[in-house]
Amino acid sequence: MKLTFLGCGDGFSVEQGHNSALLTLGDTNLCIDFPESNHASLRQMGMKLNEVEHIFVTHLHEDHINGLSKLALFHRVYPGKTKPKLYVPTGLLADLWQVLRQGLELTTRGKRVLEDYFDVECVETAFEIAGERFELIRTQHVPDMLSYGLFCKPYFYFSGDTRLDETYLAEVAGEVQTIFHECHMQEDQLPSHTSLDELLSLPASIQEKMLLMHYVDDYVLADARDPFHVKHKLRLAEPLQVYEW
Ligand SMILES: [Zn+2]
Ligand SMILES: [Zn+2]
Repeated sequence: MKLTFLGCGDGFSVEQGHNSALLTLGDTNLCIDFPESNHASLRQMGMKLNEVEHIFVTHLHEDHINGLSKLALFHRVYPGKTKPKLYVPTGLLADLWQVLRQGLELTTRGKRVLEDYFDVECVETAFEIAGERFELIRTQHVPDMLSYGLFCKPYFYFSGDTRLDETYLAEVAGEVQTIFHECHMQEDQLPSHTSLDELLSLPASIQEKMLLMHYVDDYVLADARDPFHVKHKLRLAEPLQVYEW
């Protein structure tokens, strides 16, 4: 299994794409979230939008789903090998369509629904692709908002957007090799995200497994990354960087 970051940036990033990763699973793939910035990253990888076969949506913040309309339309105009399959946590489905229908419902050939564009699977707890199981983990992002991470044993846990959940991290760290965790790197605290100080307070054994994502553009250049890596055990994920298990 292989994971390539299509973007590691936060919601305001312009230089490194919004946070999203592409998993390669045998001869198919799964994209975790689909921001608009994925188009350029996929192009850099030599891939077209219609080669994306599965997509999982972690939550409905704009920086995680603002490329889905384009992906849907591209597949309709230039059909790929398969109709894209969209995995949506059950509680998000109705709201997701409310967002996407603005651009997808009315067409010259009549009204369309989400299922015209995607093979939709509502997910309660887990889904499987190419023999690998992906378990949904409810995260603590914004109070009352549904948001999820993905747990894929024994490979990784992908936090999605979340505040720190120390208890879950202690539990999952023993079961995976890598933890992709979001980090709000700036000094000012954002109550819906995890701060660097919070991650630095975790046991070294957990920090050693961590790759940070969803961070500000300030860390794009080596001038900022290198001192960070000298100072900390935590590692910064990089767009188009590949992780393999
Ligand atoms: Zn986000
Ligand atoms: Zn978010």
